Amino acid sequence: MKCSVCPRNCGVERGNNIGFCSVGDEFMLARAAKHEWEEPCISGVNGSGTVFFSGCSLRCAFCQNYEVSRASTGAQVSEDKLMRIFDSLVEQGVHNINLVTPTHYTEKLAAVLSKYKSPVPVVWNSSGYEKVESLQMLEGLVDVYLPDIKFFDAAVSQKYAGASDYFEYASKAVLEMFRQVGALETDENGMAKKGVLIRHLVLPGNVSQSFKILEWISENLPEDTAISLMSQYVPYAKAKEMPPLDRRLSSREYSMVKQKALNLGLENVFFQQKNSASEDYIPQFNLEGLDL
Ligand code: SF4
Repeated sequence: MKCSVCPRNCGVERGNNIGFCSVGDEFMLARAAKHEWEEPCISGVNGSGTVFFSGCSLRCAFCQNYEVSRASTGAQVSEDKLMRIFDSLVEQGVHNINLVTPTHYTEKLAAVLSKYKSPVPVVWNSSGYEKVESLQMLEGLVDVYLPDIKFFDAAVSQKYAGASDYFEYASKAVLEMFRQVGALETDENGMAKKGVLIRHLVLPGNVSQSFKILEWISENLPEDTAISLMSQYVPYAKAKEMPPLDRRLSSREYSMVKQKALNLGLENVFFQQKNSASEDYIPQFNLEGLDL
């Protein structure tokens, strides 16, 4: 079947070819392990059970998981093995199964999640560049949506990700996620159990994008919408030669965006410490957790 799972609409037969996302129709994973550096309501004390899928349908110039998003790292994994990997993470005591960059496998993951009854919440950790009709396959199967909203202006998303239609898709995707699971709900320990948590990485030299995204959230989503406002940008990959992405975010830029969120009355925002901007927080994509 010709693939049109994501907005790239490649139309390739993924059994024999690869599309823009760089992978065929078999699962390719780069790592499956506990991760302690997500938001507190995702990582908690025991860690999040992150499952990193190889390939990506967005492929930002500044991607910090560059070798994974271009699918140069990864091992093929069957559906049964993927379920065993989920079991292994659950046995390690993780708070959730966190599917990282899963969009290009939406259809296959919907099939797996229909069979696998997870005892911990399932988190869909995506770029936000997704089609509503694809997300609808996940209804009732995903507990927590953790989408990015990366860019607002078409010219900016075209420049940094070759996707002038990024916000058009991401905004509709986030509204669909809200329709399915609503605002973020946490348990008695403050862990995410259901709902949407929007991530936004503030980019150097692009404060206006952050302002516009926060304004859109305040105008279109509930006041208590959970937002993770990230300051952890580190120049990586092609971005090292793409000013202003060739530098770190300044404290002043992050403060301006933080103040904007407060001025808009957004009341459920996770702020990040400046020392989070370190390559030390980027996981090692060494196929850990796949050898079961
Ligand atoms: S999921 Fe991959 S092959 Fe399918 S449309 Fe998107 S980029 Fe193309």
